Amino acid sequence: MKCRVCRQPAVIDLRRHNANFCAEHFVEHCREQVRRTIDHFKMVAPGDRVLVAVSGGKDSLALWDLLVELGYDADGLYLGLGIGDYSDESGRYAREFASQRGLHLVEVDLRDDIGFDVPTAAAVTKRVPCSACGLSKRHLFDRAAIDGGYDAVATGHNLDDEAAVLFGNTLRWNIEYLGRQLPVLPARAGLPRKVKPLVRLAEREMAAYCVVRGIDYQVEECPMAAGNRHLGYKEALNAIEASSPGAKSAFYFEFLDKASHLFANRAQTERDGLQACQSCGTPTPGEVCAFCRLVERTAGATPVELTVKAPPL
Ligand code: SF4
Ligand SMILES: [Zn+2]
Ligand SMILES: [Zn+2]
Repeated sequence: MKCRVCRQPAVIDLRRHNANFCAEHFVEHCREQVRRTIDHFKMVAPGDRVLVAVSGGKDSLALWDLLVELGYDADGLYLGLGIGDYSDESGRYAREFASQRGLHLVEVDLRDDIGFDVPTAAAVTKRVPCSACGLSKRHLFDRAAIDGGYDAVATGHNLDDEAAVLFGNTLRWNIEYLGRQLPVLPARAGLPRKVKPLVRLAEREMAAYCVVRGIDYQVEECPMAAGNRHLGYKEALNAIEASSPGAKSAFYFEFLDKASHLFANRAQTERDGLQACQSCGTPTPGEVCAFCRLVERTAGATPVELTVKAPPL
């Protein structure tokens, strides 16, 4: 197996590109994919300040590394979710990455700064943890970006993530979500621009990128992920990809090219119906936004001790 560029021994094969790469040219390939994505979707303009949502996992750390290497002005934001040892370790990886490279990491802790954590919110709302977790992440990333004067929030969603979400939304024909499933969402009153520069890179490629670049990351799955439907969708898509390389990428990018505009009106109508949350000012369809309602509901709740521990490092 030889590198497509230099004919030296390759470290990775990318079947959907019908190409193999050595370490050096694989890194170059990843940078090129991100550069093309940012240019094509006009994600970041020269001089923009970007806030990277950093979880301590491979995708977000690789994204931060790639943006910095490509010359973007990118700070990180780590949100402490209070998911036992898993969160403690994830925070450590994020801090280590930032301090080793002299980068600025903003930190927000759900329990200390807001008053609840993900396990407690899940118990109070009696819903899967990912529901309160996703809501909190979206709200607090937006708020930190606006407060810090950033132009865009960048998240580490990769091709596998986006294809799995699209698969789920298509299975149920979630029209509003399909209208919003774009790699860039423009800024609007009270909300920053959202960008996903890794959509051309697969999960396996991000793991390989971290190994090649010497990035230590949280390899454990979140212990609260059970019940997250996307894991099953990823498995289904991986089975299709194994027999038909490129199917995942075609599914996602052909949707963006040929079908996403069909759902755009619905998303726009939804956006037009939003008003400022009476409590925090975030655009919301009701009087008070879902995050402020969650803060209210969890106020005074006894913190839930997590019984499932992430395995030791
Ligand atoms: S798996 Fe769910 S609970 Fe865990 S970090 Fe992801 S969204 Fe949050
Ligand atoms: Zn090479
Ligand atoms: Zn609010």
